[in-house]
Amino acid sequence: MLEFSAQELSKFMEMHRNIAEYINLNPIQRGGILPDSVKEIVLEWVDGYSICDHCEGVLSEIKDPPIETFIAEILPKFLEIDEVRLTNGAREGIFVVLHSVCKPGDSIIIDKNSHYSVFLAAERVGLNVIEVENDGYPEYKILEDQYAEKIEEIKNKSGSYPELAVVTYPDGNYGNFPDAKKIAEICHEYEIPVLVNAAYAIGRMPISARKLKADFIVGSGHKSMASTGPIGILGIKDEWKDVIFRKSWRYKNKEVEFLGCGPRGLAVVTLMASFPHVLERVKKWKNEVEKARYFVKEMENIPTVKQLGVKPTSHDLNFFETPIFYEISKKHKRGRFFLYRELKKRGIIGIKPGLTKNFKLSTYLLTKDEINRVLEAFQEIASLH
Ligand SMILES: *Cc1c(COP(=O)(O)O)cnc(C)c1O
Repeated sequence: MLEFSAQELSKFMEMHRNIAEYINLNPIQRGGILPDSVKEIVLEWVDGYSICDHCEGVLSEIKDPPIETFIAEILPKFLEIDEVRLTNGAREGIFVVLHSVCKPGDSIIIDKNSHYSVFLAAERVGLNVIEVENDGYPEYKILEDQYAEKIEEIKNKSGSYPELAVVTYPDGNYGNFPDAKKIAEICHEYEIPVLVNAAYAIGRMPISARKLKADFIVGSGHKSMASTGPIGILGIKDEWKDVIFRKSWRYKNKEVEFLGCGPRGLAVVTLMASFPHVLERVKKWKNEVEKARYFVKEMENIPTVKQLGVKPTSHDLNFFETPIFYEISKKHKRGRFFLYRELKKRGIIGIKPGLTKNFKLSTYLLTKDEINRVLEAFQEIASLH
């Protein structure tokens, strides 16, 4: 091995984030913030494989820490689904389902507002992806009835029905909730199982796989369940157990799709330790939606600003069209980075640097005071016009 100089390594030895003083609006981060009480125990679990002290060979059966109870009882009850496994993220859960249920060359049907990682998971398995459209600007609402049309279309073209349907609930651009139950009912008429991608829902709001009629459901621990991650949860209906949880012929107690073990260490510990806090916040979801609606209403008082996506919003993640900031950027000496700078000066981060025409943000778990500070900042910046 070649020698590394101290200078080459120095940047890895002092890494600080220094974000404590900022209000962070980044939608992917707001639901992943750990409660202080959980942050206190983190140091005990940071070492590699820290949960494996008492493992007898199956991660989902570890009793100390209480992973077995969490996976076998708590999470199924929370999601109202039969069986649960942990994965390294929502996308890994999606991949597991695609890879187990479909084979290369098969087709799946997904909604146009799907996360990019669903396309990648499909590509990794070798699947054809057929998209159900949304209704375009300004609401981008998924056209649920198209699931039936597209299913028929695929059948006519290829001779067989798609193997699986995916519904994003809600999507990560507009925070739109398609009628997942209706889609599931349509798909079930053709005996096509449905995967509900609830990465932005599970851990933020009440979710019942049973009520949505989902055959599979995935969530993201680092996005919406106050876990350090990377971690995801995958819920499945009993009838899919042998397919998804199939075991290795060589290592009889190891599940192949999970390469033997789920996430091992801090990710799962923080997921469990945060769970009581997550339960409490889920109960207050209505309040989060009200705050988001208040925020949207006030933002739209800024000239030309408009929330895109279904109205009124039903989620803390919202997408704004903001021509006024684009106009300012054309004349500003910092150009399109002015908005990021101006927000940062006011103690606010989380809008992607360089965006001015439109952006998304989340108000999840911000206090009313913080929301007002953010609104004032946008109002002030808009008055630079
Ligand atoms: C964030 C997100 C994902 C990916 O989540 P990971 O846990 O990071 O894999 C997938 N789908 C949607 C809709 C998302 O918003």
